[in-house]
Parts: sequence; structure tokens; C-alpha cells
Amino acid sequence: MIYFSTNNKSVTVSFREAVIKGIAEDGGLFMPSFIPELPQKFFNEIDKLSLGEIALEISSKFVEDEIPKNDLRMIIEKSISFDAPLIKLSDGLSILELFHGPTLAFKDFGARFMANVLGYFLRHENGHVTILVATSGDTGSAVANGFYKVDGVDVVILYPAGKVSEIQEKQLTTLGENITALEVDGTFDDCQRLVKAAFVDPELIKKKKLSSANSINIARLIPQSFYYFKSYAALKKENSNIVFSVPSGNLGNLTAGLIAKEMGLPVFKFIAAANANNVFPKYLQTSVFNPQPSIKTYSNAMDVGNPSNYARIVSLYGNDYEKIKSIIYGTSFSDEETISAIKEIHSKYNYTIDPHGAVGYLAFNEYLRKHQDQNITGVVLETAHPSKFTDVVNQAIKNEIEIPARLSAAIRKEKKSVLISKGYEDFKQFLLQK
Ligand SMILES: *Cc1c(COP(=O)(O)O)cnc(C)c1O
Repeated sequence: MIYFSTNNKSVTVSFREAVIKGIAEDGGLFMPSFIPELPQKFFNEIDKLSLGEIALEISSKFVEDEIPKNDLRMIIEKSISFDAPLIKLSDGLSILELFHGPTLAFKDFGARFMANVLGYFLRHENGHVTILVATSGDTGSAVANGFYKVDGVDVVILYPAGKVSEIQEKQLTTLGENITALEVDGTFDDCQRLVKAAFVDPELIKKKKLSSANSINIARLIPQSFYYFKSYAALKKENSNIVFSVPSGNLGNLTAGLIAKEMGLPVFKFIAAANANNVFPKYLQTSVFNPQPSIKTYSNAMDVGNPSNYARIVSLYGNDYEKIKSIIYGTSFSDEETISAIKEIHSKYNYTIDPHGAVGYLAFNEYLRKHQDQNITGVVLETAHPSKFTDVVNQAIKNEIEIPARLSAAIRKEKKSVLISKGYEDFKQFLLQK
């Protein structure tokens, strides 16, 4: 499979190069040169397949002969070693739980797959590769976990000081070994800007082998499509119109769903569910994409003011705004509404949802109210375990939720981070001295 840069279609690379580079030299994001369609037979038999089998079928279309099928199967077994169960709340509404991985967020799917693919491609390389990750909360720990103690790989995580939850910070800063956490005096957008600048700095890329691992790496996007197929398999018999509500920040999860649809998955509608950082819903309403500084909210992993994957969505649909608008519904909600939703879901369904999933739930309900004639089954993606946001969730449900063992182990450890300013020179010097 050939991949091109969203900034220039004539800049093309192999899957391997796209994964190692992370981002194109012209600053664009890599996109597959075409979206492979899956045969009808695959959809007829999909409910007999496991998540791993679905994953192998889909990923092999994007990898082709660059990784032999048996090796790809092993990569999937190592990466997707947990399930994505669909929990039915009522007729017409299910929750897709994506937090059963080691760091309790959906980013485990993409990050672990990417880490294992990158490790596979780099296994014969000499010298260290430095993976740069900008995170607004969950990416960093998922990536770090995927690369933990992998020979020849250093991971540098950049996170905005004071803008991630205490638990998220512990997950980012307590691994040690080949993982370094940089605490940036700025926002997530500053972190993302620093990483982007490093990749196009000629002096730096001459001296350091850099690779990126936030949601812009194509190897993170592909595995995020697997669970859309799995949900369809579980709901196929209901014969209704499937609407996925996706709590969105950098739009990676949503883009993966759109790619699944273009591969032939019968999806009726996607909902881009946002918090106060509503640049993308605004675009859907007005056709104007106008990046803004990010605003801090309870659903902090979605506090993104300039979502990178917008470039991929536009590329996927040939910049056809009307088409994009016909496929995606966008809306946004405040922190107060988020708290009310957590309360409502708890009392109505006896289910504890996290703030990101709560935004997804609100967005689905709004869509449903406006489209009651559409025979809809809603799937709200629950992107993190509620125990990662105990401050907000406990306050909403007036109870203390239980913390899973894999999380309480990180909480007990001591934080280790390096403070840096949001200026590029500081970051560059840190990398050069490493
Ligand atoms: C990253 C993240 C999101 C946003 O996903 P994008 O792919 O960046 O749109 C939503 N919820 C949680 C819990 C996350 O960690």
C-alpha cells in the first residue's frame, strides 16, 4: 500500500516509511492512497469472527506484503490482548467499552499496535529511535506502556503541566526505564506544536532518529477501526441504522470510523461529540474550520483546539463539505451538562460512565431527539474507564467508584518528570543532550 501526504498527494511512501516517519516532511499527515473495500462475504460472516480475526483481515489490507501475515497475526495478538464489549443500556442504545486495555483508555488499541509494528520494523536497525508523543492525557501512557523496556527505543512524552488529571499524570510519569515525561509549561496544542516543529527541524533530524506516536501516526489509526466492525457484528441482527457517537478531540477515533465506513461497513451516521472545544462541530455547522486555543474541561482528553485529523477527514472526502456534513453530525456540551449526564446514566441505567463517554451520550440523545423517525441503534464509545476521573465522577454519582488494580499500582508510585518551557529551543536542547 502506498501512502501520501495530506499536504501534497505526489509525496508518497510505503507503509513502513509512513509508520517510521509518523508525519510527512512537508508537515502533512499520511493517508492510504486508496481505501480497500472488503468483500460482502466478510460482512456476511463477520459475527462468527473474533476481534483478533477481524483485526487481521482489516490491517492486512493496509499493510499488504510489508509484514508477512503470520508476523502480523503475532503483532495483533500482542497488541489487542483485551476485548471491546458492547454493553446494552436499553433497546436502541449500547455502550462500546474501549477501556479494557492496560492503561484503561481506548488509546491502548492504537498505541500498542503502533508500538509493536514500529518495534517490528526497527528490530534490525542500529542506534536508538526516539519516539515523541504529545498527549492531552491518555495517549502518553498508552504509548509508553506499549514501548516499555523495548530495546533501542526511547520514548519522550510531552504533556501540559496542570492540565491532566492526577491519575493520568501518575500513569505518564511513573514508568521510568526508557520512558521520559516532559512537563510543558503550556497547553496540549503547545506540546503538539513542539513535536511537529522537531520533525521538520533539519539539524535535529540529522542527529536524531525521530518517530512520532500521537494520533497522527497512521499505525495508530488503523487499529482504531477494528472495534467499529466488532460492534456492527454484534448489532447486525437488529437490522436498524447504526449511529456511532464518538467523543472527539484530535478526531483520530472518528477518522478511523470513517475509514471503516469507506471500507464498506454499514454505518448510518457518525456523531462528533465535543466538549467546549467545538472547532469541528462549528465547521460542520458553518463550513469554516477555525482553530482556537484549547479550553480546559472535565473531559480533558478532548481539549484540543486544532484537531490534526481534520486534514485526513477533508482528504478522505476530497474536500467535499456537503458530503462530510451528510455523514457526520457534530455537537458540543458544557461541563455542567457532562456532570448531569453522568448522574442521569447512573440513576437511569445503573451504569457509571466517564466524562468523555458522557459527552458522547449527550450528543447521541440530541441527535435522537431530532431524528426520531430513523430506526436508530446508538453506540456510544466509552473511551476511558470512569476511575481515571474520580474527582468528577464521584461528585456526580455521590459515591466512590472502585479503582482497578492496574491503576492503583501506578497511583502508589512517585512522579518523575522534567519541567520545560513551551519555547521550541528548550525542547530542542533537551533532545540534543539526551
Ligand atoms: C484521546 C481521547 C479522546 C479523543 O480521541 P481523539 O481520537 O483524539 O478524537 C476521547 N476520550 C478519551 C478518554 C481519550 O483519551
